[in-house]
Amino acid sequence: MGNSFDVGVERLLGSTVPQLASAIQPQPATPRDRGTFYLETFGCQMNEHDSEKVAGVLLARGYKQVESVSAANVVLYNTCSIREKAAQKVFSRLGEFRFLQNDNQIIGVLGCVAQQEGEKIFTRAPWVSLVCGSASYRNLPQMLAQLEAGEKRVTGLDTDTDETFETEVTRRDNPWRAYLTIIEGCDKACSYCVVPHTRGPERSRGSASILAEVRRLADGGYSEIQLLGQTVNSYADPTPRRMRFSELLVVVAEVPGIRRVRFTTSHPRDFGKDIVEAMEAVPGICEHVHLPVQSGSTRVLNAMARTYTRDQYLEKVAMLRAATREISLTTDIIVGFPGETENDFEETLSLLDLAQYDGAFSFKYSPRPNTPSLKMEDAIPEGEKSRRLAILMERQREIQRANNEKLLGREYEVMVEGKSKKERQWSGHTSSNKVMNFTSSEQESLGDYVRVRVTAATPNSLVGERVLQP
Ligand code: SAM
Ligand code: SF4
Repeated sequence: MGNSFDVGVERLLGSTVPQLASAIQPQPATPRDRGTFYLETFGCQMNEHDSEKVAGVLLARGYKQVESVSAANVVLYNTCSIREKAAQKVFSRLGEFRFLQNDNQIIGVLGCVAQQEGEKIFTRAPWVSLVCGSASYRNLPQMLAQLEAGEKRVTGLDTDTDETFETEVTRRDNPWRAYLTIIEGCDKACSYCVVPHTRGPERSRGSASILAEVRRLADGGYSEIQLLGQTVNSYADPTPRRMRFSELLVVVAEVPGIRRVRFTTSHPRDFGKDIVEAMEAVPGICEHVHLPVQSGSTRVLNAMARTYTRDQYLEKVAMLRAATREISLTTDIIVGFPGETENDFEETLSLLDLAQYDGAFSFKYSPRPNTPSLKMEDAIPEGEKSRRLAILMERQREIQRANNEKLLGREYEVMVEGKSKKERQWSGHTSSNKVMNFTSSEQESLGDYVRVRVTAATPNSLVGERVLQP
């Protein structure tokens, strides 16, 4: 989870941009002081951003956000169910909420566990009175009003909406980097994955609406935009403009005030040359692609229904490596998928050597409800999954160590994002999304972009010194 900078709606309301300020002023008829809410988030960037939007919806309707469960009238928990451990953690945290619960306090479950478990949550955690999946967040104020009016339990579990969740106000947690969901849900049908079930079908947001929000964000001082989607590059503009994803990257990067555009997660099947060409042409599009491979074995990829082979994936890697800019590449990998042989696993290891990833999130396969792989035979024992995971992580660590050491002496632009407790120590990210910890004799300002020379490297980060320009 990223740092919390706690810049709230007040910052937006204080905007110098008149149309923004008026667009987000609560309507006069809106009842004020509706009470307080506490919102906790668990899971991916999309969940974090959904929480920013949920907070915006509630703030605009007169609720106040508080930082502790005990101070809140409404406690909301935005959840993740991608792996079994994540879902278990949700129920243990709900148990803690029960222990802290005050009289009349509303406890609500949002997100993937809400969508997956539905009303069963009321049986397993009877102290919960609201269960709401991501496609129904815009109805939260009405759902809370129903509870305040005396209803005991409310649910919002539709996934058949063809709308995306856009809000007038988003309570953004970072004052320089803004997340922006351009496509919600997922139409791929990877056999291990709960997302199509928990987040519903793909819905893309109109390109004009995306651009209008980017302009507002730039006017509000944001310089980095992160375009989000489970398969962000499957973006399909629903407006007559029919803007392609690669065009969208370019126009977003060209908005005055925007210095960096990131995008995640890309699906290999829809990753075309046009995206690489856009990255080559426009420096503001960050030189980083997250392209999950999941396995290096075509046999396992077929069983996962990933819709590409090992060779087709490696062609995409070759295309990225041939680009005129040096593009960093990261991935996701699952080990121990049902039926994964030692030979399949060796193929994944050899793919790591070929792809030379700059980072990899690796997971043990976790059987999930409502997924086709749940019924597959030849489950891999837990101990064997752990063994494979440890081997894979060690191999990838060595690749990252060697690759980062090659960067010694090079200079990068870094966005200053944090100050260490140590004197003169700062941290930030390069355009290639590498973490850079650096020393500077200057009093740096958070959110600024500075040049840094790499003086040391570890597998997961770079160490550097600020380069002072004449
Ligand atoms: N949409 C992205 C894609 O297709 O690459 C990934 C979304 S998912 C939230 C993030 C990662 O979780 C996946 O790339 C996959 O590696 C992992 N994951 C998903 N389901 C899993 C499961 N059942 N067991 C283990 N890992 C899983
Ligand atoms: Fe899940 Fe596959 Fe969709 Fe990614 S592309 S969210 S892994 S179904």
